[in-house]
Amino acid sequence: MPIRLGSGDKLLILRRLDRDRKWESLDDKRYCRCCGATFIGRQVDVVGGTRGSGRLRLLCPTESCASTSKDWVYPARNGSDAAHSSRIHPHAPHDIHVVGLARLLRALRARA
Ligand SMILES: [Zn+2]
Repeated sequence: MPIRLGSGDKLLILRRLDRDRKWESLDDKRYCRCCGATFIGRQVDVVGGTRGSGRLRLLCPTESCASTSKDWVYPARNGSDAAHSSRIHPHAPHDIHVVGLARLLRALRARA
């Protein structure tokens, strides 16, 4: 069940959960390497576990696609992202606990 967020909050969450690539706005485009769809930040689903105990993550807007932000790249423009996207990211997934969402949003807003 996607979480409903205000647009400002959603941009903060996109930035927080997808640290590999920049989100300048909710209209930034991403290309999903799993399903081949191109979409914008506004369309990304933010999902968490039940009863606030799960982890928060970003989900591809394609209904049958279970990819997350790690599988998304900038839409092809000049080819420079091809080499970049094949790089293995050494750090852990950017999961956070939903229970901390309110606190996280306060912290992000304070810095914004
Ligand atoms: Zn996808």
